[in-house]
Amino acid sequence: MAFKPANNIQDLQYFGEFGGVNPSISDSSTYTFLSAKTMFDTFEGNADGCYLYSRHSSPSNLYLGEALAAMEDTETANVTASGMGAITPVLLQLCGAGDHIVSSRTIYGGTYAFLKNFTPRLNIETTFVDITNLEKVEASITKSTKVLYCESVSNPLLEVADIKGLAKIANKYNIKLVVDNTFSPLSISPAKLGADIVLHSLTKFINGSSDTVGGVVCGTQKFINQLRNVNDGASMLLGSTMDSLRAASILKNLRTLHIRMQQHSRNALFLAKKFESDGLKTVYPGLPSHPSHNLFKSMMNEQYGFGGMLTIDVGSLEKANELMELMQDRNLGYLAVSLGFYKTLFSAPGTSTSSEIPEEEQKEMGLSDGLIRFSIGLDADIERTYYMMRTCMEELYILKPKLQYSYGKV
Ligand SMILES: *Cc1c(COP(=O)(O)O)cnc(C)c1O
Repeated sequence: MAFKPANNIQDLQYFGEFGGVNPSISDSSTYTFLSAKTMFDTFEGNADGCYLYSRHSSPSNLYLGEALAAMEDTETANVTASGMGAITPVLLQLCGAGDHIVSSRTIYGGTYAFLKNFTPRLNIETTFVDITNLEKVEASITKSTKVLYCESVSNPLLEVADIKGLAKIANKYNIKLVVDNTFSPLSISPAKLGADIVLHSLTKFINGSSDTVGGVVCGTQKFINQLRNVNDGASMLLGSTMDSLRAASILKNLRTLHIRMQQHSRNALFLAKKFESDGLKTVYPGLPSHPSHNLFKSMMNEQYGFGGMLTIDVGSLEKANELMELMQDRNLGYLAVSLGFYKTLFSAPGTSTSSEIPEEEQKEMGLSDGLIRFSIGLDADIERTYYMMRTCMEELYILKPKLQYSYGKV
């Protein structure tokens, strides 16, 4: 039977203290014990269901974590104060001085900066590879490699990772496959395909209202326990813990994720098809022209579509900036980084979210100056949006006027 991640979220029931339909929010940093012995056992990690201190865990964080683990089909999960607050402890838990990481070269700018500039200070080295080339990936593994790292759909170039193929390689060399699934929640279920650890920035689609940052690590009970260990757990000791109030609000948003993803995907596919047929260089995994279209199809939970992210290339940074400013003037979206909002968001990745990547390397990986990254919103009338975007492009001579086209008569 097909995997149903949204059912798994909905099937979890947590009632509030007084029968509330939402779980009660735990508004405490510390917890009392009736006996000193139980406190000792909890410290040692031997008292299931007891809370000690909220940097370690709290009921609200546990509810959200369990819902996300159900979505990703992992044993459990640990929620964190941000996406980077999930990624960095995972890598530091798995790697120490002298260890090596093989990572996709097209990853989130912050993750790239961490691996390129920060972890070398701890004598952890990273080889960046083209993740779509499995032979190159395998050839980059050394005796010291501990982690194979990628994003299921990469930022900002929308490259798609062959998670099954990568899992096979990771298994062969006994290393951990860590997948950042931020761009494709519900659509792709990396753990189902063999990933050991699945990460998200909850800041994006999962929370979906651009009002907080947050993150999650989904994995085995054993690994999550290691992260939270009071003596040597990277999450516990580095302290990127989510606040309980935020955990409660993200859980409520998570419950509508399936509806939002369907609408993001529907709108993005509509625009991608139109832009491409207008002759714009368009990248969207839902287009048959995308090099990994079939791979994405083979991995996806079909009903959630190909996601809300697409890119177009309008030739130069100047044109990209003009277009983004004009679209914002016409209320078609916001010139802003981040993704997964009800409103369309757009930015030029080369000068914003991927600016950590040196210009030369940007060129090499196909990150061109005129690239605009769109996070397509939940627009109720995407045909009107298209018509208005097209008009902007005509006014800026990015597209030639198409006299026959008129809104409502396609
Ligand atoms: C935003 C993002 C992150 C970082 O998450 P924060 O919540 O901003 O810390 C990591 N990976 C991807 C793919 C992202 O888009």
